Amino acid sequence: MTKVLTGSYYSTSSSKKMLHLRPMKFLILAFFIFSMITFKTSISFSKTYSLQDVAATLESTYKQPFKNNHNLELKINLNQEEPLYFGGANLNNGVFEINVGADILTLPAMTTDAATLILCHELGHLLSGGAKKPNSTWASTEGQSDYFAATDCAPKIFSQMADSPTTPMSARIIAAGQALIEAIYIFMDVPQMPRPSISRREALTEPGTSVNYPTLQCRLDTFVDGAKGIAAPLCW
Ligand SMILES: [Zn+2]
Repeated sequence: MTKVLTGSYYSTSSSKKMLHLRPMKFLILAFFIFSMITFKTSISFSKTYSLQDVAATLESTYKQPFKNNHNLELKINLNQEEPLYFGGANLNNGVFEINVGADILTLPAMTTDAATLILCHELGHLLSGGAKKPNSTWASTEGQSDYFAATDCAPKIFSQMADSPTTPMSARIIAAGQALIEAIYIFMDVPQMPRPSISRREALTEPGTSVNYPTLQCRLDTFVDGAKGIAAPLCW
């Protein structure tokens, strides 16, 4: 009886061991593969991008369309003389040059993605169409350029510059918009102005009212709506 039970016990046990052997091997193999994927993932997504990386990606993305569609050279200059310059663009002798401060990433609240939005905004002055600024034949309005940055340019650049962990595109654009507006708000040092927030919205105005800079809240609303793929807010 005991023998049978013992035998039965051992045989059950060894058959269990046999049964578990393959799944165990499979688990070890799966874990090994998973580790490799995780390891590879952590290598490819843990890169911290510099302003130079952003500029190079923007140049390589838009260089050819610029040449083909506008017959212009695209140049991005990281300005050493004004290292905290928030961005500007000019068009001279067939060259469209974007300028941004070389040390812009050192500003409080500024992020690489927010700096990408700055460059995209400058690009938008030439590419976004719509109403032009009063004294310019080529520069689209500020609001139009922000909307272009969020809807067209940022998705193209961010998709080539993965972050860690990988964030959904719309959330990433909203976060970039929040960081940029917060950085400008801090830089402006205007504590009497309400802090722009995604939990508020700018009051609506007649479309086309503002060709210059909209309020910071309106600019944030524009980035948020652009990120969501909906029409630009009626605050500029
Ligand atoms: Zn502008």
